[in-house]
Formats: sequence, structure tokens, C-alpha cells
Amino acid sequence: MKYCNRCVYPEVAVNLFIDDEGVCSACRTAEEFNQLTDTFWEERKKRFEKVLAQAVSGNTSNYDCVIPVSGGKDSYYQTHKIVSEYGLKPLLVTYHGNNYLPEGDYNRDRMRHVFNADHIVFGPSVEVLKKLNRLCFRKMGDMNWHAHCGIETYPIQIAVKFNIPLIIWGETSWDVSGMHDPDDFVEFSARSRHEHSLRGFEWYDLLDDLGEKLTEKDLMWAKYPEDDEILKVGVRGLYIGNFFKWDPNRHAKLMQEQYGWKCPEKPFERTYRRFSNLDDRYENGIHDLLKYIKFGYGRCSDHVSKDIRSGYMTREEGIQLVKKHDHVVSSDLGYWLDYVGMSEEEFWKVADSFRDPRVWRNENGNWVKDNIWDE
Ligand SMILES: [Zn+2]
Repeated sequence: MKYCNRCVYPEVAVNLFIDDEGVCSACRTAEEFNQLTDTFWEERKKRFEKVLAQAVSGNTSNYDCVIPVSGGKDSYYQTHKIVSEYGLKPLLVTYHGNNYLPEGDYNRDRMRHVFNADHIVFGPSVEVLKKLNRLCFRKMGDMNWHAHCGIETYPIQIAVKFNIPLIIWGETSWDVSGMHDPDDFVEFSARSRHEHSLRGFEWYDLLDDLGEKLTEKDLMWAKYPEDDEILKVGVRGLYIGNFFKWDPNRHAKLMQEQYGWKCPEKPFERTYRRFSNLDDRYENGIHDLLKYIKFGYGRCSDHVSKDIRSGYMTREEGIQLVKKHDHVVSSDLGYWLDYVGMSEEEFWKVADSFRDPRVWRNENGNWVKDNIWDE
């Protein structure tokens, strides 16, 4: 496997472009991003204020915008901007996938208090969630499809239903593989929802399974509104990360100090960062383990790559962390297998079938790959 010589991303797995100097497209985009001046961000802020003013002036609903929130540090940051800095009235909307850690529950429910905001928390039936966990794991190697679908569908249904034309999302995805440029002003789109987050599957692709019987009525929350419904309200989804410099380390600290947002007491096993995914223990524990099984890199590689680019650690330090965390099969696996009633044997049989042959080879019954520290 070929790795970027600045961060720890492998070329094939992340779908990067690595240039003649051995630097990946994500690092190049981050470089461009780090050079943006304070004047640039001042201009962006003005642009954001203009968009907000436009959205609010024509809005006849009781809410200025929808903010999809899990209760994580980014949710707090988005809401902090809208409520505390701009004095607007958002409707907070949460998709509850039944995977919260106790600190995540605390942070989510605290939002109503600290931001004085109305909050809709929606959770599908747990039986339906268990079926979706099993079915999507077997079908696409991602047991957490329901969460990605819920997070990117339910808030849009609410925006349409309550006639709210603006949705405020968090971070832009421009540093994941260097796919977008700061000047692209990426907005939420049905296409990236369908192709990226939902892996090309919609609710109706899940109805014909003989083992996991699901009906249309079970999946109402997963239906993306029709074009004409969206156009009638004029729903538009902006990423606040396009307008304000995004620094998760700084945001987490700020939200802890200002709003009493809590980090988990126990560290995660699959990464060193303590402030991500408190809303979903299986996102780190299983979904991300599956990413490692499929593509040979995990969440720790993501966090390390971001922190190297932001100057929080060296590549050498990052590699040591990847060595420690990326491959770990955490205790979350046991919890998840109990939750969905699956044997560990079946888990590995299905998971192994998703291994990318460009990354993994089987040597005497063991799956092996090249590692960054063997370079
Ligand atoms: Zn890189």
C-alpha cells in the first residue's frame, strides 16, 4: 500500500491522489485551507450573515432554521453560533439510533437547557433498528446504515413539515480526500446523501429480505422528501464549516468550558480522541472496525491525519497511535453481537467477505496487509 508522506492515509483505500512529492490530495487541500487568512474568514463570516438574513427574512415558520444535532461537540458548536452569536431560534432535531453512550445522552438532553431551544428527538422502533443492523451488515458490510440514513433524512422531513427553509449542518467534508475546495461552497445534496452516506441504498431496497422482514411503514423516517416538497419550502442545507474556521480540538474545549459539555470518562479503544462519537458507541466500535476490515485503515488514521494537518502531532507520533489503535477489536463488538443476537462466527464470516483484495492477502488462514510502519 502506498501512503501519503505527510499524513497516514493509504492511497487506494481513501481514494486519494498522491502527487509527485508524495503528498496526498487531502493534505494539499488542508494546506490551502491552513493558509487562509483572517481577512478571508472575516469575508466568509459576512457572507454567512447575508445568507442568514435572507433566509430569516422570507421565513414564515416559527423557527429560523433546523439544526440536526446528535449532542456531540459539533452540534453544540453549530447551535452556539446560531443561538448565542446570532440570537436566532432553531429547531433542534435528533435521530436517535439507540446507540448512545451515557455521556452522549447527557450532552444531547442538556442542549434544551443550555440553548433554551425546542428539540425533537426521533427514534425508530428498536426491533426495526435491530433488523436494519443485521440486514445492512450482511448486505453492505455496514450495520450503521440506519444511522447515516436517519441523520440525513429525518431533519429534512422536519424542515419540509414545519416549513423551515434553512438547515445548518456542521463540518464540510473537504479534508476527507481533498474532494472539495474551500471555494466550492458545498451544500447538502440529495446526491451525496444517496451515493456517499447511504452507499446507494434507499429504504425500498431493504423490503424484500426473507429473514429480516421490514415494511414501508417501518421505514417512513427513511424516506427522502420529494423534489416538489423541498422546492415548495425552499429547503437549503448549509455547512457552517464553510464560513468559520473548523478546529474540532478547539471547539471541544470551548464547548466544555462554556456549556459543560462532557467527554466520556472511559477512553475509546479504537482511537485516542475522546470527544468524537459519544452519540454512537457502535460507530467507533463496529462501523469503524468494518472500515478497517474492508480498507485496512481505521478511525485512528482519520484522527491522526487531521491532527497532523492541524499541527497537533508529528507523523511519527501519529504512526505510533495508528499502530496502537487501528486494528483493535474493541469490547463494543461483544455488546453489538448481544444487541442484535448474532454469533461472533457469523460476524467474521460476513466481515471477511468484504475485505478489499488490493489491501489484504490471506497467508495460511491469516489476513495480512502492508503497514505504514513497514515503509
Ligand atoms: Zn496526506
